[in-house]
Amino acid sequence: MKYFGAHVSASGGVQNAPINAHAIGATAFALFTKNQRHWFAPTLSERDIEAFRLECERLGFKPFQILPHDSYLINLGHPDEEGLLKSRGSFVEEMHRCQQLGLDRLNFHPGSHLGRISLDECLDRVAESINIALDKTQGVTAVIENTAGQGTNVGFDFAHIAHIIDRVEDKSRVGYCIDTCHAFAAGYNLSSTEACEKTFAQIDSIISLDYLRGVHLNEAMRPLGSHIDRHERLGHGQIGWECFEFIARDPRFDNMPLVLETIDESLWPEEIARLNALAGN
Ligand SMILES: [Zn+2]
Ligand SMILES: [Zn+2]
Repeated sequence: MKYFGAHVSASGGVQNAPINAHAIGATAFALFTKNQRHWFAPTLSERDIEAFRLECERLGFKPFQILPHDSYLINLGHPDEEGLLKSRGSFVEEMHRCQQLGLDRLNFHPGSHLGRISLDECLDRVAESINIALDKTQGVTAVIENTAGQGTNVGFDFAHIAHIIDRVEDKSRVGYCIDTCHAFAAGYNLSSTEACEKTFAQIDSIISLDYLRGVHLNEAMRPLGSHIDRHERLGHGQIGWECFEFIARDPRFDNMPLVLETIDESLWPEEIARLNALAGN
């Protein structure tokens, strides 16, 4: 079964995310469990937690259909001690929030070396950060997202993600998320059925798709290999519908959140409906 949705707003309280997702016909969703522009947030109240759980149950969202995203401030591969410690503290708090909400995964961008340490050193730090967070929490999988490779961001090559996963001690609580726009921007061609077959086989050979815990369904505004992270409406960019049709039909993407982060929210109901039709839902 395929579960499509979007990164919906949780403004006014986390319980609004499942309500907003249901309203656009989604059977999956992503959310920030706190203000993503702040390092730390007030602890979730029992009332918030209960309301979130009740709405998810009422609207039929199970944890495996939900892909929370952490704050963009966090850099788990930070070159400086202070930045690294702050990031690790904030990430543990985010993992803990997911645990409290009964969620089973947390999606994050691996980090940036900021030109001050080597790429490998940065990846080693990310792995160590994940080990620390897994040690301090229970039941939540750390889901590493591939990046477009803008600036000094690591994780644009799937070999980077394999490098990190290799060094994570508890392999049962680490996985990855493929963002189609980021992959395309990083040079992985997805612009035809044949290209998708080749690219997903290549990714699978680098890190088994058994570790896949979600997909960000994004169209890319810029050309293949641009390293520029600009999302577009599905079918209005450089990738095209063949890729999204490929994912909708391929059973390797069953039973995980497939989430839109496309730029025009008003089109989400339409994009989700078309994806469902392609999947035969
Ligand atoms: Zn993404
Ligand atoms: Zn992006």
